[in-house]
Amino acid sequence: MTAARQVKNFIDGEYRESASTFEVPNPATHDLAAIVHEASADDIDDAVAAARRALDGPWSRMSAENRHDLMRKACDLILSRKDEFIAAEIADSGHPIAAVSAIEIPRGAQQLRAFADIASRPSEPETFDTQTPDGRQAYNYSQRVPKGVIAAICPWNLPLIMATWKLAPALAWGNTVVLKPSEETPSTASMLGQVFVDAGFPAGVVNVVNGFGAESAGEFLTCHPGINAINFTGETTTGTAIMQAAAVGIRDVSLELGGKNAAIILDDCNLDAAIAGTAASVFYNSGQICLGTERVYVSRSIYDEFVAGLKRCAEGQVLGDPRSSATTMGPLVSHEHREKVLQCYRQAEAEGAEVVTGGGVPEMEHDFVRGAWIEPTIWIGLPEDGLAVKEEIFGPCCHVVPVDDDDAAIALANDSRYGLAATVWSTDTPRCRRVVEELNAGVCWINGWMIRDLRTPFGGFGESGIGREGGAHAMEFHTELKNICQVMDLP
Ligand code: NAD
Repeated sequence: MTAARQVKNFIDGEYRESASTFEVPNPATHDLAAIVHEASADDIDDAVAAARRALDGPWSRMSAENRHDLMRKACDLILSRKDEFIAAEIADSGHPIAAVSAIEIPRGAQQLRAFADIASRPSEPETFDTQTPDGRQAYNYSQRVPKGVIAAICPWNLPLIMATWKLAPALAWGNTVVLKPSEETPSTASMLGQVFVDAGFPAGVVNVVNGFGAESAGEFLTCHPGINAINFTGETTTGTAIMQAAAVGIRDVSLELGGKNAAIILDDCNLDAAIAGTAASVFYNSGQICLGTERVYVSRSIYDEFVAGLKRCAEGQVLGDPRSSATTMGPLVSHEHREKVLQCYRQAEAEGAEVVTGGGVPEMEHDFVRGAWIEPTIWIGLPEDGLAVKEEIFGPCCHVVPVDDDDAAIALANDSRYGLAATVWSTDTPRCRRVVEELNAGVCWINGWMIRDLRTPFGGFGESGIGREGGAHAMEFHTELKNICQVMDLP
């Protein structure tokens, strides 16, 4: 067992200890992974004040070009410390090394470079010639200025990716940030502090504070009057509380919330690809991914074959040491989350589900018996109004339903208060396009899943969120837009 990591708050360019600490267990083993210093209300005051000083001082005096160069340097520094980041991410989250080393740490780093590149591209100037009432000419143009000090609040499901997904656009458009990672997975966000120091960022541009939500660092931060806008990813219920906090002082919010995503498998699809793609979207990250699939609607003629194929994929998952490259599925993030998911498993059975596979806790080998493991699970036969069909579970599970035609599939897929992601599988392009264009979801894939180009818009319909992040769309939230009207032809 390696020694537990000390996770301190990073405020005004230096790491600080707190009087109060809490422990984070390794979800795979339940051994101690990290001892975390919890930020007090005074620490949050200090972090917000440091962010304000940096905003008013060195950060705004620096050219955008120099700011973007620092971001690219931070990206390179994370990659040069990749092994350290991988070890910390696995210890906190239990994610398998294959995904952490190939996707999570590289993308976590590259988001800094990507948004530096996106923000440095010149945007089309918006100009209008206007006539004044007394017949003179006026010239209108727009200016964008940073929003100010941004509070960024992250979930635990993809810790480094979430941290830089919030930081990168904020920094790219000239803001300063106080970031609060999830209390369950704080290590890699905290490690970013040293990266920003080493890259040469002025003190206070990025601050990382640790703690919980209500009555702790999260609430202290979102209620702080020095915060200009709040960028939040997490549960829809938490998003509601955050929106209420933001109402005081009329602060802007960007909310990336829950989902109950549907996959539609049509009878003319490439069945092997549809099965493999759907399995990835259900079981990847043990189902703890906002874009994951929990509802599957399949043309009746291929339904049995599809269910049998998905079952094979579920039963082929390799659960075990996350540090082994043979492992394909890690544990859930915590015992608390496993209890919530198991409650949904019990609920599904109580609602009449037939369990195709899974449904419980797997038997694990010696070192992992205390971990938060759960079986990949497939149900059929649930009523469409059942809780297991309506509510986000955030575990490795899905419900599969046969449908008679495309319109029925569209209607069922859209019958949700969420609208984050959707997937359609068919070899008939016009048919795919017709179906996908009818779906109420912010991110849709045809014949694929989880292909993410950082330049594209990202966000949800309905209770899946407000606003669009991604690419130049993130500029809307991270800047204030000013209209300047100059009257020409003065007498
Ligand atoms: P959560 O809402 O419980 O917590 C998220 C963060 O909010 C944590 O840092 C937590 O400490 C903080 N928080 C909690 N209560 C708060 C309060 N009252 N004030 C301020 N901060 C508070 O979410 P989670 O369990 O960490 O993450 C899972 C959820 O995140 C799922 O619903 C998932 O769908 C969602 N998610 C959405 C996206 C997306 O892009 N739409 C991406 C990833 C995860």
